[in-house]
Amino acid sequence: MLPFNTIEEATTFLGRNLTRAETWWFNYSAKKSDYYLYCHNILFLFLIFTLVPLPLVFVELMRSLGFSKYKIQPKVSLTSSEMFRCYKDVMRMFVLVVGPLQLVSYPSTKMIGIQTGLPLPSIWEMLSQLVIYFMIEDYTNYWIHRFLHGRWGYEKIHRVHHEYTAPIGFAAPYAHWLEILILGIPSFLGPAIAPGHMITFWLWIALRQIEAIETHSGYDFPWTPTRFIPFYGGADYHDYHHYVGGQSQSNFASVFTYCDYIYGTDKGYRYHKKVLRKLKEESGTNGATQEFKSE
Ligand SMILES: [Zn+2]
Ligand SMILES: [Zn+2]
Repeated sequence: MLPFNTIEEATTFLGRNLTRAETWWFNYSAKKSDYYLYCHNILFLFLIFTLVPLPLVFVELMRSLGFSKYKIQPKVSLTSSEMFRCYKDVMRMFVLVVGPLQLVSYPSTKMIGIQTGLPLPSIWEMLSQLVIYFMIEDYTNYWIHRFLHGRWGYEKIHRVHHEYTAPIGFAAPYAHWLEILILGIPSFLGPAIAPGHMITFWLWIALRQIEAIETHSGYDFPWTPTRFIPFYGGADYHDYHHYVGGQSQSNFASVFTYCDYIYGTDKGYRYHKKVLRKLKEESGTNGATQEFKSE
């Protein structure tokens, strides 16, 4: 809820005219409560979990159209009903855990100082906060994920997420309810340390989930723009973690590669890539008959 009744009042408060984005924000949010604005995240997450993996379903079902060469584990293919079952499981968890978690976590966003007013942050302010959020999340998630690969954490909690040894887009949030709650902490830590505007918070939650869907896609497309992000892990990187499964002591990081590099937990992956390269050189095949795509 904005403390202005009219655009003129907002203009007087800012000492300048509102930008186009600020005018849009005023018109949209002036009469809405902060709680209602925060709860937009529930709708955004529902839309992201539902719509973003859909092109990947098409790709999986239409592999004969030339998509097969991008599949990271070419021997694995899923039917539409298997993918729909995953979506149904994710939606059940969404209704029972993710949605309620959003509803009850509102007071903490107020406490840390996420604001909804004017002026809106600049693009650079938003970008720099998003980079910080990604880095904090990546680092914290690395250690929690590594802990979940201990015997107790894996058997009791993390095993569910690893049911997909060849992940698909819908399986990105597929996990034990306790894992969803625990991994909410790294997502929240960035905004708690460097609180920003509600729009930045929406963007952060949305981008983080889209990134997770991409890394679980099971496809390593050469045209994905995330390839240009320095130290970005991507689908191939996380796919290996799922492929190895419970014994995996490699590729724990959720977004970037540097944590695994610094703490020496990418050795299995690097060795695996080296073997694949060697196999490709020796056989001269394109890798289509191998268990893994060899670049
Ligand atoms: Zn894992
Ligand atoms: Zn995963």
